[in-house]
This record gives sequence, structure tokens and C-alpha cells, in this order.
Amino acid sequence: MLEIFEKLARPAVLKLKPYDSARSQIGADSDLILLDANENPISAADIMTNRKTNLNRYPDPRAGALLPIFSRLYGVDAASILVTLGSDQGIDLLCRVFCREGVDKILATPPTFGCYKISAELQGCETIAVPLLEDGFQLDVKTIIEKINTENPKIVFLCSPNSPSGNVMKTEDIEAVIKAAADKAIIIVDEAYAEFVDQPSWAKRLDEFPHMAVMRTMSKYYGLAGARCGVMLGHPDLIDLLRRAIAPYPIPSTTIDAVKEALNPKAIAILDQKNRILIEERKRLEELLLQSDEVLKVYPSETNFILFETKNRDAFYNKLKKSGIIVRKYSADNTIRMSVGLKEQNDLLLMALGVLDAPQSQDREATAARKSKETEIVACVNLDQQGHNISTGIGFFDHMLQQLSKHGGFALTLTCTGDLETGDHHTVEDCAIVIGQALAEALGDKRGINRYGSGEIKLAMDEALVHGAVDLSGRAVCSFKGEFKHAYIDSDGTNFATEMVPHFFKTLSDYLGAAIHVDILKGENDHHMVEGCFKAVAKSLGQAIALTGGDELASTKGVFDRAAS
Ligand SMILES: *Cc1c(COP(=O)(O)O)cnc(C)c1O
Repeated sequence: MLEIFEKLARPAVLKLKPYDSARSQIGADSDLILLDANENPISAADIMTNRKTNLNRYPDPRAGALLPIFSRLYGVDAASILVTLGSDQGIDLLCRVFCREGVDKILATPPTFGCYKISAELQGCETIAVPLLEDGFQLDVKTIIEKINTENPKIVFLCSPNSPSGNVMKTEDIEAVIKAAADKAIIIVDEAYAEFVDQPSWAKRLDEFPHMAVMRTMSKYYGLAGARCGVMLGHPDLIDLLRRAIAPYPIPSTTIDAVKEALNPKAIAILDQKNRILIEERKRLEELLLQSDEVLKVYPSETNFILFETKNRDAFYNKLKKSGIIVRKYSADNTIRMSVGLKEQNDLLLMALGVLDAPQSQDREATAARKSKETEIVACVNLDQQGHNISTGIGFFDHMLQQLSKHGGFALTLTCTGDLETGDHHTVEDCAIVIGQALAEALGDKRGINRYGSGEIKLAMDEALVHGAVDLSGRAVCSFKGEFKHAYIDSDGTNFATEMVPHFFKTLSDYLGAAIHVDILKGENDHHMVEGCFKAVAKSLGQAIALTGGDELASTKGVFDRAAS
């Protein structure tokens, strides 16, 4: 045990051995006959669901199934991870392991997360409050260090990004506090909202500062607040101490299963896209809230919530409540905190405040999934966003789909795991199906779009020239003119069959309900020509899905005839 933990932990905890269930030595998935834990071989859950739920069994005490997942996610060894029943449990464990009733103290920096103080109080301990600096909610480093030296808090809780203020604490400030506390206190960096910020986690520096630990949670970015799952990342000795105080089976098997399922990389790729849009929504709200007479100041946030000052907190709260919207009144005078909702929810809030007269246009976003014998694909498109995250297993095809997203001006996230041993046929066809379905759903009733688009693409100084045209008529037609020189393109170690190119566009047209025309006007190099096809269709599609600013259903005559002629 490191000296710092020997010095700071409660003597009672240092003497304690953790509750040792017979199960902790046995793998969870073993075929052994388990008669060791007074469990019932029958489960009411199985009777009701008519399947084997395994809920008659106690869960794995260490949530072992999640350790490799968190180890990869946070880049730390399994021995440095403690899975807790929400971060709230982690905070509670820290107080119980380190703080003696009536003797020890913790330090927190209000306005900040309320649980630090509550957990300390429950343990009979005082909280030394060092308020954040008034201008910008940054740490008052000088006073914190002074208090560490004079009042000996056992634990210092730093929250970055902080709730309720939403700002990130300066790296140099956190570092100064950590350094000043070496041999004196445990520093906890609560990173509940860290995924919303593009900054390295303090977990990367665990080796450098063994008296520091980091808390993460599944509740915010991952949207799993109901699952109750938090993660403590710290020195293995600290994890060992906390484990002595944790309940025997802290994480329900339903939680373990739900988190494992949700952290599937396919789901995360799409979650990332949706959270990017949530951040755009936050920026829109920050701007529009200021247009309300009742909002005096909006504090800059790097999270999924916003803190702002109103003229009159109660009047503001009640006005929204009448419209069926609940926000959080904060303790400081006239401040309100709100989570960023879906676009249509935020619109309703802005309408209740009189900032908007009517809802703004709906999100043009859709997710489509397809699972066949050969492939499993999830795709998500957003017609009003940019960016792509594509992984099909075929490098060249990824590159082509990136062109489709980039030149089509829409966001595309697509993950495909498939059987590439039987060739790329299934992957290419199934991706076209899923993209077509997602685009069609995102377009909805197609109100207010151009509907038509056409474009010419030149590649490699005129070497290849391809013309494309798209009509989102609802009628599936595909005309593909042009010949490739070879049956395969050798690229990135993959052999991509050129015959899959017309097949891709035919399938896309079927599932999107669009007329797609591709004309290879000239070209010698297959790679250039294929790329030209994807870019020309993308450019046309981008025009066709673009909003005209009007609200009419796209007319059925006109532009397309000209474009295609
Ligand atoms: C929400 C929140 C947590 C609690 O997370 P759970 O894992 O749901 O218990 C911890 N810290 C801060 C700052 C939070 O806002």
C-alpha cells in the first residue's frame, strides 16, 4: 500500500478485508453447478419473460464484463478501475474510506456538484468551501492550496467541466492543486461531462500523480442515467481501499448488460454524431436565450447544459412550467440551469419565452439498421450537418462513402461488420440499402427541398469526367452509362469489384426512391472514374436535398429534364 493511502485512510478501513463472496474466484460464465450463494435455481423473472434471464444469480462483484471495455475506453489498466453504482457511489465511498466522523474534512469549490458536501455530511464531516472565482468560475488556486496546508482536508473535489457553471477548469490550475496536495490529500477530478469537451482526460496522468483519481459516468454523454453506472479511475491501492467499503454485489446484472450493450462501437459512432448535434443545439440556445427580455446573462458552457441569469427566477420558472417545461432553479440569485433538449423541445421552450413564433424546421436526421446473415450495419444521416465516420471494412469503399457525405453536404455515420470472405458484394449492397433508407426517412415528406440536382466532376486534371443527376421523385430509376477498364480496383490492399459501382447506385436509387443518372463521359483510370461517379452523384444529391427556404412540396416538372438532357 502506498504511503499516502496508509496515512490518509481511516484506520478501520485499513484493517478491513473486503467481503469475499465465493463467487469472486469463479468466472461468471462457467458451466459449474452453482450452489454456493443461497440463490434460487428458479426465477420469477424467467416465468414472466419466458426466457432464461439469469436474474436468479448474484451479479459478478466486480462487473468484470465491463472492465475490458472501460480499460479500452479510458486507456487505463483494469486494476485501476472500480465500477460503481453511479459516480454518486464513488463519492460516498471516498468519504467513508478517508473521513473520520467529526475529525476529517473534505474541500469543495462551490458552486459545484452538491453530492460532495452531502456525502461528507452523512459521514459526519465538514466541507471546507473555497468558492470559484466570480469572474469565469475558475479555481481560486491560492486559497485552495492555503486550505490544503492549514486545514488538512482528506479529499479535494474538483469538477471539470463543472456543474452547474458548465466551464472547464484551467489545466495549469488543476495541476497546481494536484502538485500542492502530494503527500497531503486525495485529489478527485470529477469528469462527468468530459466527453463533451475535446481535451485530454486527467486519467492519462494517473501514473504521474498516484494521489489523484478521476471519476467518469455513463449518465451524461452516454445517456444511461437510469442504468446507474460510474467509473472510478485511480491507483490500484486506492481502488483496493474503496473496494473494501463497497457493497458485496454493487452493480446489478441488468446494469452490466445494459452498459455492455450500449457501449457497442456501432452505437457509439452514432451517439457521437447525435451528441455533436446536441452541442450545436446548445450553441443555438445560448444565442436565442439572450433574445429573451427575461434572460440577463448566459454563462459559456462546454457541456450539455446551460446556466443563465434571469430577471426573476421564480417568474421565469413558473412561466415555463405553465408550458409543461421544467428547468432547475439554482441556489444563487435568479440563476437557472437547463439541460439541452432535442431541437423540437428547445423550440417549445423558446416559444414559451416568446423568442420564437413557431417551431423551426425539424431535424432531418434518421437512423437505419440492417442485420442479415452476411452483414450487420447501422447508419445515421443528418441532412443539415457535416462530417463522416465510416467503417465498412473495405478501405476503398469507406473512401467513396466519405466522398458521398462530403460532397453531398450531409453527415453520415456508418458502421458495418460483415462477411468479406465471400467478396464485397453483400457489404456494398447492404450499405446502399441502409444509406438509401436513412436518407429517405430523413427527407420525410420532402417539403421545401430542391428535389433536383446535377453536376459534373473532373478528376486528375481532366483525365476523368463524370456527369451525375438526381431526382428525388419517389420513383426508383437508375441509369448508369460507362465502362471501367478492369474488373477490380486494387487499393489499400482491397480488391474492389468495379461492377459493384453501378450496383451501388441502383440499390441506392431503389431504397431512396430516386432517379439516379451516372454518365462516365471519359476516363482511363478506374480509380478516378469510380471516384468521379461518387462525387458526381454526391454533388447532385447535395443540391437535391438542400432546402429552398420555401415550404412547398417540390414540383414535378422542370429542372430535372434540363439537368438530364
Ligand atoms: C451527474 C453528475 C455526477 C453523477 O453521476 P452519476 O454517475 O449519475 O451518479 C457526478 N458529478 C457531476 C458533476 C455530475 O453532474
